[in-house]
Amino acid sequence: MTMSRLVTIKDRQFKPYISKKKMELAVKSIASAMNRDLKKECPVFLVVLNGSFMFASDLLKEITIPCEISFIKVASYVGTSSTGNVTELIGLSEDLTDRTVVIVEDIVDSGLTMQRLLALLKTKKVKKIKIATALFKPKACKVKLKLDYVGIEIPNDFVVGYGLDYQGFGRNLKQLYVLAK
Ligand code: 5GP
Repeated sequence: MTMSRLVTIKDRQFKPYISKKKMELAVKSIASAMNRDLKKECPVFLVVLNGSFMFASDLLKEITIPCEISFIKVASYVGTSSTGNVTELIGLSEDLTDRTVVIVEDIVDSGLTMQRLLALLKTKKVKKIKIATALFKPKACKVKLKLDYVGIEIPNDFVVGYGLDYQGFGRNLKQLYVLAK
């Protein structure tokens, strides 16, 4: 797929936004920071499904320190705007007591999903929580969050691809696209 190509997903058109190469570099830089910072922590990477599957796969292949990987599924989005409601769909089965947990998210938009996830994890007696997100929309964020690892900051636009969907479609796109006006 060339950079100039528009893609149609359901009723909307999207244009190329962030290239695969640029995302790859951002992910590698997060991974090397984690390999350095978390060397002695034996962290549990908690991958937030569905959107972060592609980011998590790329990131975790670059992680060289001992670690465990687990998954949680939450829902908060309908169409192209956040509802702010988070429902835990697949819960945590692991014992996270005294563990360093790294939340692996695709995108932090309003920050509400992350805030609720943090509240959930704080009931699990973990040692430390770190947050990694592929994308961050600082202007959309409504809550105060300490994001430890951010891939790329983006404006308040709706993006698809690289794991992110529009009405369930587009997650498989290798690079990120944004709504074409
Ligand atoms: P928040 O609770 O921070 O508003 O939103 C978190 C979730 O909303 C993300 O995990 C993601 O699934 C979804 N989301 C937020 N912004 C976008 C976006 O620009 N595109 C898509 N496809 N999903 C988004």
